[in-house]
Amino acid sequence: MNRRTFLETMGGGLAAASPALAASKPNLVILFADDLGYGDLGCYGHPTMRTPHLDRMAVEGVRFTQFYAAAPVCTPSRAALLTGRLPIRSGLTRVLFPYSDGGIQDNEVTIAEALKPAGYATACVGKWHLGHLPQYLPTRHGFDRYFGIPYSNDMARPFATGPRYNPGPPLPLMRNEEIIETNPDQAELTPRYTAEATAFIRDAARARKPFFLYLPYTFPHVPLFASARFQGKSARGLYGDVVEEIDWSVGEILGALRHNKVDRDTLVMFTSDNGPWLIKKEEGGSAGLLREGKGSTWEGGMREPFLARWPGRIPAGTVSAEFGSTMDLFPTCLAAAGLPLPPGIAYDGQDLGPYLRREKSGREALLYYYSDTELRAVRKGPWKLHVASNAPWDGPPGVQKHDPPLLFHLLHDPSERYDLAAKHPDVVRELLGAIEEHRRTLTPGALQR
Ligand code: MG
Repeated sequence: MNRRTFLETMGGGLAAASPALAASKPNLVILFADDLGYGDLGCYGHPTMRTPHLDRMAVEGVRFTQFYAAAPVCTPSRAALLTGRLPIRSGLTRVLFPYSDGGIQDNEVTIAEALKPAGYATACVGKWHLGHLPQYLPTRHGFDRYFGIPYSNDMARPFATGPRYNPGPPLPLMRNEEIIETNPDQAELTPRYTAEATAFIRDAARARKPFFLYLPYTFPHVPLFASARFQGKSARGLYGDVVEEIDWSVGEILGALRHNKVDRDTLVMFTSDNGPWLIKKEEGGSAGLLREGKGSTWEGGMREPFLARWPGRIPAGTVSAEFGSTMDLFPTCLAAAGLPLPPGIAYDGQDLGPYLRREKSGREALLYYYSDTELRAVRKGPWKLHVASNAPWDGPPGVQKHDPPLLFHLLHDPSERYDLAAKHPDVVRELLGAIEEHRRTLTPGALQR
C-alpha cells in the first residue's frame, strides 16, 4: 500500500466516527532545541544556566538519561524524528543548504501526515531544514500551518560567507509557503515562535480539535541571539541567555496548555537535534560528561536531554535510564493517538509509551550511529562499538578508522574512555555481526543534496 492509499483509507475509515474519536485523542507537542547538549540544562547538571521551566517539566514527568538524536547534525536528525526512520532510509543524510535542491520526498510519511486522518490540527513553528523548495515545505508534508525559517540561521550573509553564498539569498522568514520577511531580527525569533505556538494551541483548543505542535527552535544554534529581556541576564553569558529564553518559551507553552484547559490531555516532549557545537567554543554548549559534540558519533554528538510530561499518565518525578531515540517519537505519537503504523514502511523506533508510564522496563538499547551515509558505530545493550570516528566536525585529525574496533561499556563508562575490545572479543564479534546484518538488510533512499 502506498502512502496516499494508506492516508485515504485511514481518512475514510475514521470519517464516520471522527467527532467522538477526536474528543478522546490526546494532543501531542514536540519541542526540539537546536545544538543543545546533554549538559546544558539545570536538571542535567549545568552549574550556572537557569532552566526552571524545563526543570519543573522534568519533576512533573520523566527525565531520560539514555536518549538519542538519530544523527549528529540538523537535517538528518529532523528527518529521523518526523519519519521514525534512520536518515539513510529517507536519503536525508547530510545538512541541506540554501543552494540544495533536495528535501523530504513524498513517499515519506511524517508524524503530522499520519495524524491528519484522525482529525488532528497540525503546526510546525520554527526551523524546518528538510528542504526549502515548495514541494518540501511543511505545508506539503502534513502541517496545516508553518511559521519559521526553512534552514539554519547561519546560512545567509553576513554569517555565512564565501562563493557558495555570494550572491546567496538573505535568510527567509516564512508563513506557510510565503516569504514574509528577509533577514528577520533574530533576537525576536524565540518570542515570535512562542506567540505562534500559543496561538495555535488556543485555536485548536477552541475548535475542540486534537492537535500536534512541532516546535523546532532556531537556537541555541550559532549565531546566538536573545531578546532584550534575556540579553546579559545569564551567568553563562550569551549562550545562557539564549537557553534561558528557550526555557521561558517552554514555560509559556505549558502555561498555554493550562490556560486552555488541555494540560491533562497533552503529551509534551522536549529534546534536541544534536550535541553542542564545540568548535564554537564559548558560543557552543556542553555535552556534560559525554565525549565530543555536534558532528561526531561519540556520545556527545547524539545523546540528548529528553523530558516527557503528561499529567495523570506519566508518573511524576521519574528519572529513567531506559534507552530511547527520536525515532521512537513517531510510533509513540501514533500509539498515543490510537493509530496503527502505516503498513509497508521500515521503522527504526518503537512506542515509548509503556516506558514513559513505567509499565515496562529493561528495553535493550540498539542504535546505529551514522555520519552522512557512513555507519561509524553501533550500540547494543550496554556496549558501543566504533569502527570509525571523527573529532571534532571532521576537522583534524579527520576521520579515523578503528581496526581493530573500539569497544566501550556505556553504563560503566559513559565518557567512552576505556577501550575494552581486547578484553571482550566475543562482544566485538557480535556487534560486527550486527553491523553486517544491518548493512545487508537496509534499503537506502535516494540521497538528497
Ligand atoms: Mg542542530
